[in-house]
Amino acid sequence: MGESMLANIKPRLKQLGLKLKMSKFIARENIGAIARREANPVHIAHALRKQLLMSSILRDAKYVEIDGKIFVDPFVPFMPSPYFRKVLENNSVTSLPLKPNYAEIAITNKCPCDCFHCHVKNTDETDLSETAILGAIDDIVSEDFPLLIFAGGEPMSRFNSLLRFVRRASRDLDTRLFTSGVGASYERLRQLKDAGLSGLYVSIDHSTPSKHNELRQHPNAFQRACNTVASARELGFYVSVVCCVSVFLVEFVAHCLLLDFLCQRFSGLEVVRYDGQQ
Ligand code: SF4
Repeated sequence: MGESMLANIKPRLKQLGLKLKMSKFIARENIGAIARREANPVHIAHALRKQLLMSSILRDAKYVEIDGKIFVDPFVPFMPSPYFRKVLENNSVTSLPLKPNYAEIAITNKCPCDCFHCHVKNTDETDLSETAILGAIDDIVSEDFPLLIFAGGEPMSRFNSLLRFVRRASRDLDTRLFTSGVGASYERLRQLKDAGLSGLYVSIDHSTPSKHNELRQHPNAFQRACNTVASARELGFYVSVVCCVSVFLVEFVAHCLLLDFLCQRFSGLEVVRYDGQQ
């Protein structure tokens, strides 16, 4: 078997192995629930149908293993954990409304960027006090949520408080953070990791730095976002990149697709010139 074929097969086997681990965990939970008489076979059959539906939704998901934790989706707690078990329970109930699987707290309205799509910039209200947010975290814990996401504004703009919130929440929840990367640094990320944060969502809206910076109205936003992704991966966070789709990006992707099509259709094509309205 050639080296390149081996290189292709290895990641697939890894994915298969992680899927199997997750399936085993879920099967064990179902059997355990029957054995403990927490669920009857009809209930389990209902849960299995839901779990099959979930697996078909997640069939193309990328499984990631970090320090023995398996992550399958940015909005699903890691496995194995009591938080993942809680999601299984939430998705197995037969009554409506379904229980939510995650909560989100905007800890600040402050942000060094000024994105055109921002949902916060028209909010004049000052930030909630630390006491109010710690109280909200306690409420979220007592309501049995499995996952809490910190957002803003830019949460790094209120870093010391953020650390305290993450430390408190991570005792009872899986915790994640939305950030533009502006205000993040390796040292800050390390402190968040030590406080218990498991994952980050970093915004990157365009592959061209100047376009991303223009959309974010910040001269270093692209570089900071890329640095944050690299540092967070090095520190062992589960990292997702989120993208606010803009006209710029749609046009860019359309151009790439057209270019790809033309290159495949007409071999040897060297120059493509775009004319038309902006
Ligand atoms: S980074 Fe987020 S909070 Fe800041 S301006 Fe952009 S959308 Fe608003």
